[in-house]
Formats: sequence, structure tokens, C-alpha cells
Amino acid sequence: MTRIAALHDAINLSQGYPDFDPPRELTEAAKHALDAGYNQYAITWGARELRDAIARRAKTFNGIDADSEANPVVTCGATEAMMAAMLSLINPGDEAVIFEPFYENYGPDAIVSGARPRYVRMQWPDWSVDEEDLKSAFTNRTKVLILNTPNNPTGKVFDRDELKVIADLCTDRDVVAVTDEIYEHIVFDGAKHISLATIGDMADRTITINGISKTYSATGWRVGWAIAPKTLANAMRRTHDFLTVGAPHPLQIAAAAALALPESYYQHLASMYQQKRDDFVRGLQKAGLDCRPPRGAYYVMANFGRFPFDDDWAFAMHLVERLRVAVVPGGSFYGDPKDGRRFVRFMFSKRDETLKEAIDRLQGLRDVP
Ligand code: PLP
Repeated sequence: MTRIAALHDAINLSQGYPDFDPPRELTEAAKHALDAGYNQYAITWGARELRDAIARRAKTFNGIDADSEANPVVTCGATEAMMAAMLSLINPGDEAVIFEPFYENYGPDAIVSGARPRYVRMQWPDWSVDEEDLKSAFTNRTKVLILNTPNNPTGKVFDRDELKVIADLCTDRDVVAVTDEIYEHIVFDGAKHISLATIGDMADRTITINGISKTYSATGWRVGWAIAPKTLANAMRRTHDFLTVGAPHPLQIAAAAALALPESYYQHLASMYQQKRDDFVRGLQKAGLDCRPPRGAYYVMANFGRFPFDDDWAFAMHLVERLRVAVVPGGSFYGDPKDGRRFVRFMFSKRDETLKEAIDRLQGLRDVP
């Protein structure tokens, strides 16, 4: 969709990246690292400075006890962390439980690593999960459960009760949880992000994935990480070594500086996005789309069922070609794309003027009979 957006000179609300810069502290730290000799390979599983910063932040923000020597694995983005986790865990024939709609990569991550995905539906419009559906997705072949909270594309933030149900199932069935928490600081209306690794004994069976892309608006830097129990971290470190050797060394050093930003940075980030969310959702609703304010992350799944389009692709193509706003067709987020055919996903990590222009263009939907 990013490519199609460029063809039509459209505002690109498809792929999840900001049109504004990271904080100056980060870019300054990166420049400084380039001049300070951090130009060769770091230790493959991460520069000590960054692993120390990850362990510190995991303790103070998430409540996860991590030893910087044993548990962190620094990767080229959360994307590589997820792939390395799956390649390390999965044997042929294993199954992976995945909540759907899901961030597009999880399906291929499962398939490339040899796992069979078993999808559990989050139900429109509140994206609730039926406990029985979840239970019945577990079989004697289940090896991993993939969680993403705050969630892309739904904006769902899993609460403590939901996490407890997941934790109990993983513990009872001896399943490893791989949890992608890359939007942990983008939560609204007082919602609180809770790390699955802090529930019960989950720290022993959870790989927590994160990165700088979203929290520090630096998607192009490609620095992410996992925090894993020692044995799993060792397996991931080997896999990661053969996948990419390591994330960019100077940017790892700058990421360590990012993790030392004061709490006020995170508060400002959340309130900035909450304001964008409020204005953007109001604009979508005014244009006639059925959507609820997300509780976290920076996406809105909108139901366009009242408009006369055959499916999500037809609607998305109308938006990009006629109204010049690019979105992602909902089917991309479902195991069976037909299940997403009444949805498109908008993303609102853009400057206010970009979002306002997009909303103005989308009012053109009111001319659709
Ligand atoms: N995880 C989720 C849920 C995402 O939405 C994204 C990007 O959109 C990523 C991971 C990618 O993270 P990274 O840039 O660290 O590879």
C-alpha cells in the first residue's frame, strides 16, 4: 500500500511509521556514537551499554527481573526478535496460538519457522476474546502462544484478568509465550500496560519483545530486543547470530541513551497520541465509518459495512485512488482474508496537519451513495 500510495500521491496511513523525527537526544547520541568509535560489530547479542539499559528499564517500568548478562538478546528490530524466537522454539509439527486480527508478520513467522498457526478471534467491536475459543485452540501440539499488547491492529490493551487466563493456560499446557509489547508506552484513558512475564510464574516461560521503533519514533534504526529465560535466550542468541550477526552498533549505543529518557518523555508521548486519536477517530466517524477509539497503539480498525463496496480491497482502492488516502485492507490481518473483508486499518502516527488533511479528504466518502 505504501507503493500504491506513492503512485497516487496519497497520504500514507497504511504502514506504521511517523512522519516526524525521533527526540533530539537520540539523534545526538547516534552522532556522538559514530564519532566515538562504535563502528565495528558489537557483541552479537547486544552491546553491554544497551543490555544494561534494557535490564534497568525492564525492572523499573515493566517489573521484569532481567540480568543483563543472561536475558537480553538485541536484534534488528522487534521483527527479527520474533523470527529468532520462533526459529529457536519451533519443531516441525508444532502449533502456535495467535490472536486474530493479528500484526501481519505473525502468520509468516509461524509458517517460516514450521509452526501451524491456530487463530483465536478477538471479536468486533470490543475485541474481546471468548475464553472457550482460547482454550480450544490449545492442543497437545501447541508450543507457543503469540501475544501483542497493546495490539496492532485493534488497539486492544489486554487487562490483568485476560492475561491471567492466558498465563494459566500456558502454565497448564507447558507452552511458551512470546509477547510483543512494542506499543507499551502508547496507552490511553489511563489504561495500564501489563507485561505477561509479571503474571504468576510466567517469567520462566515468556519471551518479551520490544524495541525503539515506536516509543522513540525511529522505525528505520532497526534496533529491538527480547528478554528471555536464560536457556531460551541462549538459543535465540545462536539463531540471531546466523540471521543478522547484530543490530547497528552506534544505534545500539544511542538506544541505550533513549532508554534513559525521563518519565516525562513517556507521559508526553501518550498524551500526544491520545489527542491525535481523539481528533482522528472523530473525523473517521464523521465520514461515516464505524469505529471505536483504540485503547492503545496507533491504529484504528474501521468497519465500512454501510458503504456499497464488495470487499476490503475495493474499499481501500477507492480510498487511495479517489480520495488519495492509503490504508491497509482488513483481510491482511486474518488467517482467512475473507474474515476481514468489512474492515480497513488506519494508522495515526502522523503530524496533526497530515491527519487533518487525511480527514478532510475522507469526508469525500459522504458522496458515496
Ligand atoms: N510489532 C508490531 C506489533 C508492530 O506493529 C510492528 C510495526 O508495525 C513491529 C513489531 C515492527 O517492529 P520493529 O520496527 O522493531 O521491527
